[in-house]
Amino acid sequence: DTIIEINNLSKTYNTANGPYTALKDVSLTIREGSIFGIIGLSGAGKSTLVRCLNGLEPITGGQLTVLGKDVPKLKPAELRELRKSIGMVFQQYNLMPSRTVENNVALPLRKSRLSREQKKARVKELLQLVGLESHARSYPSQLSGGQQQRVAIARALANHPRILLLDEATSALDPDTTKTILELVERLNRQLHLTIIVVTHQMDVVKQICTDVAVIDKGTIVEQGDSFDVFSDP
Ligand code: ADP
Ligand code: ADP
Repeated sequence: DTIIEINNLSKTYNTANGPYTALKDVSLTIREGSIFGIIGLSGAGKSTLVRCLNGLEPITGGQLTVLGKDVPKLKPAELRELRKSIGMVFQQYNLMPSRTVENNVALPLRKSRLSREQKKARVKELLQLVGLESHARSYPSQLSGGQQQRVAIARALANHPRILLLDEATSALDPDTTKTILELVERLNRQLHLTIIVVTHQMDVVKQICTDVAVIDKGTIVEQGDSFDVFSDP
């Protein structure tokens, strides 16, 4: 019931000033069905880790297994498959402004084998899941930040991913909106048995929903455990 296994992973970038090690000796085990928080300051290596996880950035040392797949060994087509099983949500909602909510949610279904009717039904189901069925015909600019992030979550779920990865997904939202988004994420975790990865610099976010936490600093994991252990005083 391990969905992601990372062993002694390292990532060194080649830069104009020579090699730069952004991740060093990172080891993490993410259980299926958990809400796993990865917390660290800006520059700690979170984005690098996220890009390694979905195969966008080749690792330079160690092992990385996602959904039973040895990521460094995957061919480009297999990497594209892997990426479909990880739904991504970012700080900037990245919605297409000229498309309606329903068309934004339908975007990842363009290449799927579903019929037109099946796609419409899937979009409806996704909008219901995030509580936005009444906004199907709205444009992103007509929605609040929290509503736009719900659209982004619905879109991320379109192809039935096993993992939902939130990369600073609540960093642009006020505290009340953040709370409602996190409640939605918790419900999706239970309802869809989705594994959630929450990458953030916000301690409150991790405290509110994560079952497991890893603290990353200067490219290494400095603390790891269930959130009760990590957040209780020694
Ligand atoms: P975070 O997401 O926690 O802010 P990043 O993974 O973006 O951290 O960055 C970690 C470190 O790696 C930073 O010092 C950053 O400048 C460096 N870095 C990130 N991406 C690259 C890259 N493509 N080339 C060189 N250095 C990079
Ligand atoms: P974040 O904090 O969200 O990771 P950054 O501003 O650190 O955002 O990085 C934005 C982009 O710039 C990323 O694609 C990252 O790989 C790249 N990048 C970051 N630092 C460097 C660097 N020192 N050299 C080259 N590319 C970098």
